[in-house]
Amino acid sequence: MINRIFMNEMSWTSYQKRIEGGALILLPTGATEQHGPHLPMGTDAMLATAVAADVAKKLDAIVAPVLSFGYKSQPKMGGGNHFCGTTSLDADTLAHVLRDVIKEFARHGARKLVLINGHYENMMFTIEGVDLAMRELAYRGIQDFQVMRLEYWDFTKRETLEKIFPGGFPGFDLEHAAVMETSLMLHHHPHLVDMSALPDDGPASFPPYDIYPTRTGWVPCSGVLSPAQGCSAEKGKLLADDYATGVTGAIRKEFPNVKERS
Ligand code: ZN
Ligand code: MN
Repeated sequence: MINRIFMNEMSWTSYQKRIEGGALILLPTGATEQHGPHLPMGTDAMLATAVAADVAKKLDAIVAPVLSFGYKSQPKMGGGNHFCGTTSLDADTLAHVLRDVIKEFARHGARKLVLINGHYENMMFTIEGVDLAMRELAYRGIQDFQVMRLEYWDFTKRETLEKIFPGGFPGFDLEHAAVMETSLMLHHHPHLVDMSALPDDGPASFPPYDIYPTRTGWVPCSGVLSPAQGCSAEKGKLLADDYATGVTGAIRKEFPNVKERS
C-alpha cells in the first residue's frame, strides 16, 4: 500500500516495504537563511520539500527529511552570512552529513536517490557528499546505487520566465527572496508570507569580484536582492507546475524502473 509521502511519517515497517518494492528516495536540501522581512528563514528548505512532495504525488517515491541547514549564505546570491538568523554549516560538515545519510539509504536497500537542492550555495558540497558516498559504497561492492542531483529552478521553462518577467529576467542569483521565491511561497505556504512587509529596495548591483571581510554595504538592508513586487500565487503555480512535471519527467527518463504512484 502506497499512501504516505514523508519518511518521517512512516513506520519503519512500511518504509522497509516501500524500499524493498523499489521506491525512490527524494532528499531535499535547503538552508536556514534570511529571506527578507516578508518570507520565513526556512524558505529554501520548504520550497525544495514542496518540489519533492509534488514529485512523490506522481511516482513511487519517499521524501526524506529535508536538510534544513546549508552552506554559508553568499552576498551575491543569498544576502550573506552576516544577517541575524542565517545559520550555516561549514562545507565539509554539509558534505559529510550528506555522505552519511546517503550511505544509510543504501545500507537499508535503497538504490535510487534524487537530491533536490533549494539553496544555491549548497551546490558543490552536495556534489561532494554524493561523490564521497558513492566512492565508499563502491569500495563495499555496492555498484548499483544511482543518484540524480538537481537545482529545482533549472526546470523553469523559458515561456514561464517570459510570462513572469515581461520586463526581463534579473537572473536566478538575484532572485533571492524576490518574485520567484515569494510567488512559490504564496502558492505552497501563503500563510507564511507577509505581503505587508514586501521591501522595495534592490535590485542589488555587485562588482565582478568578492572582498573579505564581506562588504555588507553591497547588500540591500532588507536582505532582498531584487524587488519582489509583481509576485503572485498564480505565478507561483506556473513555476510549481514546471518543477513538478520537469523533475518527474527527468526521473521517468533516467530511472525507467521507478513505478507510478498507485
Ligand atoms: Zn532562497
Ligand atoms: Mn538560499
